[in-house]
Amino acid sequence: MIEKEVDVLVIGAGAAGLGAAIGAAREGVDKVVIVERDERSGGILNQCIHNGFGLHYFREELTGPEYAERIKNIVKQYPNIDVKVEQYVHGIDYRRKEVSVVSTEGVTIYKPKSLVVATGARERPMGGILVPGTRPAGVFTAGVAQRFVNLENRLPGKKAIIVGSGDIGLIMARRLTLEGVEVVAVVERMPFPGGLERNIRQCLKDFNIPLYLSHTVVGIYGKERLERVIIAQLDENFKPIPGTEKKFDVDTLILSVGLIPQSTLFKDFLKIDPWTKGIMTSSSGRTSLNWIFAAGNCTVIYDLVDWVTEEGSTSGKFAAMYVKNNWEPAKFSVEKGQNVGLLFPTWYEEGTNLNIYIRVKKPLEIGTIRVKQRNNLLYSKKHANLMPSEMVNIRIPESKIGAGDIVVEVVE
Ligand SMILES: Cc1cc2nc3c(=O)[nH]c(=O)nc-3n(C[C@H](O)[C@H](O)[C@H](O)COP(=O)(O)OP(=O)(O)OC[C@H]3O[C@@H](n4cnc5c(N)ncnc54)[C@H](O)[C@@H]3O)c2cc1C
Repeated sequence: MIEKEVDVLVIGAGAAGLGAAIGAAREGVDKVVIVERDERSGGILNQCIHNGFGLHYFREELTGPEYAERIKNIVKQYPNIDVKVEQYVHGIDYRRKEVSVVSTEGVTIYKPKSLVVATGARERPMGGILVPGTRPAGVFTAGVAQRFVNLENRLPGKKAIIVGSGDIGLIMARRLTLEGVEVVAVVERMPFPGGLERNIRQCLKDFNIPLYLSHTVVGIYGKERLERVIIAQLDENFKPIPGTEKKFDVDTLILSVGLIPQSTLFKDFLKIDPWTKGIMTSSSGRTSLNWIFAAGNCTVIYDLVDWVTEEGSTSGKFAAMYVKNNWEPAKFSVEKGQNVGLLFPTWYEEGTNLNIYIRVKKPLEIGTIRVKQRNNLLYSKKHANLMPSEMVNIRIPESKIGAGDIVVEVVE
């Protein structure tokens, strides 16, 4: 067993982890190490070969691999960052501040002064939608199908139906169509689509792929390979309406029913949001333990990679500040008010800017987003087309913020 002392250790080399390493290195600590279980850095970006990445961060529209390459090139400019791939973090002793990593070199115990968790998200599996019927081959999660098509040059099948209209489901509908798979439908249980408006247009409408809103899969049939999928319309209580069933003879079912923050390794010692499973953090990226920071999809599922890298960079910067001078200011809670479905971060730390990410509970054509701290109105602005599927980012500079708990609300 090898023991290594480092200033900042980052777990995961996706957009968040690479951003965190850059943030920490810029702050001037001597040794930043990223440990990544995959054989290369970049995370999920490597398999997202469509464009739509980087408009905010690089002011250019890039594909996922191009975005990853750009960030990796920035990382290379810092001699104090060491990116180590094929390293699996399998345990953390939070009392001793030790991180245990398995690789071909054996087990390494890292002793970081501060840690940034950037482990990304995992896909909600088949069990997540409780569909009756048989369990033949031909049922894939969207991420697995994407990996087959984009990285391994294999097709999952010939005729497919996709469950879930989030961005990943929509992008896979287009990708499979371009590769010659017939996509007969995208099925969504909510009365509105889950993905960005631009993806509805560019991935479904442009290819005449029908979207069935308020529908779900009620049957999956086939002996060895999938042969038939049955969908039905849902009532307002999400119960299938008898007589509305439609049959599709397909050999492939793609499940795109959500991402879950990858937080299992940390659930015994960090505060985890019981609803989203995300690691709860403050505006500096600090978790409920003062030496552990977190960023990216392991905290909240972001719409845009640009935000992920930026939040990663913030976490890395403050993780390095903790190493340099035990920086740990007062913190206040950030709470949900009216019509706020998702709110991030959980706490505000004095001395930081406040970057708030919200999703509304119910769609609103025009709504006013208000951020209040005691009697101070920190932010109040009208926003058009507020949809639960579209994350809104609000930035409040440190200079405007005082002491006290903060409430975020969306009013008509
Ligand atoms: C299909 C799809 C399409 C998307 N399209 C767009 C788009 O068009 N535009 C846009 O801006 N954004 C898009 N996004 C979102 C964006 O790509 C992600 O938000 C972002 O890349 C997530 O970065 P991350 O670092 O949080 O996670 P990841 O990229 O998942 O990185 C996490 C890393 O941690 C590693 N890891 C996890 N556990 C361990 C462990 N125990 N030990 C060691 N390493 C570990 C993983 O191997 C992985 O490399 C899309 C996402 C998906 C999935």
